[in-house]
Amino acid sequence: MNSDKKTMGHIKEVTSSSNPIIKSLKALHLKKNRDSEGLFMAEGLKLITDAIDSGWEVSTLVYAKNIATQPRLQDIAVKARTNGTNLLEVSEKILGSLTRRDNPQMVVGIFKQKWMRMDAVKPVDNDLWIALDRVRDPGNLGTIIRTADCVGAKGVMLIGDSTDPWSLEAVRATMGSVFSINLARCSTKDFSSWRHKWGGLVVGTHLEGAVDYRNVDYTDKPVLLLMGNEQQGLSDELVELCSEKVLIPMSGRADSLNLAIATGVMAFEIKRSAINMPQDVQS
Ligand code: SAM
Repeated sequence: MNSDKKTMGHIKEVTSSSNPIIKSLKALHLKKNRDSEGLFMAEGLKLITDAIDSGWEVSTLVYAKNIATQPRLQDIAVKARTNGTNLLEVSEKILGSLTRRDNPQMVVGIFKQKWMRMDAVKPVDNDLWIALDRVRDPGNLGTIIRTADCVGAKGVMLIGDSTDPWSLEAVRATMGSVFSINLARCSTKDFSSWRHKWGGLVVGTHLEGAVDYRNVDYTDKPVLLLMGNEQQGLSDELVELCSEKVLIPMSGRADSLNLAIATGVMAFEIKRSAINMPQDVQS
């Protein structure tokens, strides 16, 4: 070990994929293990650096031996170490087996999941929240979390039996936004009781009997945008809870937009009409 590495604190070198620690990290591929441990895996040096800088605690940091002396890796390892993080130095092959990739990222972090309580989600100013009814596809969910971050939404709410935002696939699709966006979850029944305390608009997207999404006044009020399941759309129970039902008009032969695309179109329209965009975006 060279003197640079010593400043990073205690490091464990692991050479075998069957090492018990590596096995326990691989177990995080299963939702039931992520749930019971309250942990998830994220990849990439920049993403992990940003997460640590914004206050997320990394419980284990795994990195490729061949980048151990890179200054950026040493920076995060030193920061992580002061918080009692385990540091594991491994081969690229082990990183590949952890992340199930042929060309793995050189750094993987294990973080604690964060859920916002539903009773902490309040209607404030012209905040936007995005609620998803039984979202199934992790790529869609990750893309929506990223879009929510880009548009300046407060958070994403998962209603009913949803895909896990902490799966590797969903986290990958967020491109780091999982660390910036509040996530809440509830059953349809709990959503229904919570909704009656939400003072703002509840805008549901619905393909039948709905109005053009550009003809609704989203100004000066908090908005909850409600998006439907990929196959079945919004459940009847949720449709009943909407103050507005809107449609993005389509002119081709497809009968609907992809869920993540429709969420992006809706979210940017709500924000565009509700607040003044920065000058350089308007011109
Ligand atoms: N067969 C489903 C249905 O009838 O609702 C299609 C679901 S679509 C793939 C998934 C979700 O994307 C919808 O529930 C809605 O939230 C949103 N969506 C898709 N196309 C839309 C459109 N043109 N206008 C508004 N929302 C749309």
